[in-house]
Amino acid sequence: MILKTFKLGGVHPPENKLSSGVAIETLPLPARIFVPVSQHLGTPAKIVVSRGDEVKTGQLLATSAGFISANIHSPATGKVFKIDEVPDQSGYKRTAVFIDTKEDIWADGIDTSPDIVREIKLSKEEIIQRIADTGVVGLGGATFPTHVKMMVPDGKHAELLIINGVECEPYLTSDHRLMLEHGEEMLIGTSILMKALGVKKAMIGIEANKPDAIDHLTGLAGQFEGITIHALKVKYPQGGEKQLIKALTGREVPSGKLPIETGCVVDNVGTAFAVYEAVQKNKPLIERIVTVTGNAALKPSNFMVRIGTPVQHLIDHAGGMPANLGKLIGGGPMMGKALVSPEAPIVKGSSGILLISDSTAKRVPLKNCIRCSRCVSACPMGLEPYLLQQLVEHEMWAEAESNRIMDCIECGSCQFICPSGRPLLDFIRLGKSTVGKIIRTRKN
Ligand code: SF4
Ligand code: SF4
Repeated sequence: MILKTFKLGGVHPPENKLSSGVAIETLPLPARIFVPVSQHLGTPAKIVVSRGDEVKTGQLLATSAGFISANIHSPATGKVFKIDEVPDQSGYKRTAVFIDTKEDIWADGIDTSPDIVREIKLSKEEIIQRIADTGVVGLGGATFPTHVKMMVPDGKHAELLIINGVECEPYLTSDHRLMLEHGEEMLIGTSILMKALGVKKAMIGIEANKPDAIDHLTGLAGQFEGITIHALKVKYPQGGEKQLIKALTGREVPSGKLPIETGCVVDNVGTAFAVYEAVQKNKPLIERIVTVTGNAALKPSNFMVRIGTPVQHLIDHAGGMPANLGKLIGGGPMMGKALVSPEAPIVKGSSGILLISDSTAKRVPLKNCIRCSRCVSACPMGLEPYLLQQLVEHEMWAEAESNRIMDCIECGSCQFICPSGRPLLDFIRLGKSTVGKIIRTRKN
């Protein structure tokens, strides 16, 4: 069978899925958690609790503060110790609610039983409201508020829901384990999202290196009208929205536009599961699956972990900090960012923690660009990464914009393939930030 994939660019980094066979383990709560009020794309949420307040698990801590924003709920029962700044995984200080935890007591109205609820009773409007109330955001990494994604703009039409089960980043296995262990709930979540969008069809894309998940979901999908499972050829970055749409439908999202231009809406499998929990159980998004792995990890693991838990707590339960640790990364090795401190909390967008050994953490020695054009061939967006890097280095912002720097999806394929060790993505990220500001200023 010929497996579908996207055509333009892409690379094949070693998969290293060390934890794919490790079942999800629920982590105990640490004594103190740190819950940032900005865990989503858009405006930070507005805090509605005060120092000294007693809170229950699932209680609202901060309320959505704009059209693109999301509610934040308490991931634990306990006392608000203080409201202060905490460094996030990149080292930036974020306002957070510090909670000293006690034994779990859930807020009223949340169904915590393990029973699967299959019948979808809520209307389209009620579903979208529930998703907003429970603070569900995209768990594939973008953290865009899901209820906003469900509101298709005037003049656009959604006809197909795509569920992203690709998990193409090396090492990460949280989505893989979710599909195996919570496949039915994820499929119910997919049906809920279809109802919210008013679409009759959903395609779930999974790379062929997860045959057990493909078989499991294919077996279950027969009970769900309109949902089909699709095995895809293994190629990075197939989990990019634009690449996945192309692989599954052949449609191209135009430069600078959103997937809805092609009639598609894309959500991650983790988001579909969170939507199931929100709509069928009234459970806010207060926990997620996080992979702790890497070539220095002592016990590669998949944890169900409460938001706000310090990264160190996960590492302690994954065998501890290795003596040969060279680098800690939040996310996968291709798109993830160096983690400044293990005291940073897990947030809604945290998919993995990578422990890389000191011997592999070293970058290859930086050499001059040899104009080999490998970065151009690898770019899934048809960009010229070597040129963008030079334009950013020389602060040529207008030229960087006209060479479509904003189309870069920050997949890191160019940097991975470069034989000269050029820090292409580092420069391009910097350039996107500056060019983005220039574009926003021009619009205002
Ligand atoms: S891959 Fe590296 S060396 Fe080759 S053209 Fe791109 S930047 Fe230059
Ligand atoms: S330029 Fe951007 S989109 Fe293209 S390969 Fe590099 S990181 Fe990926």
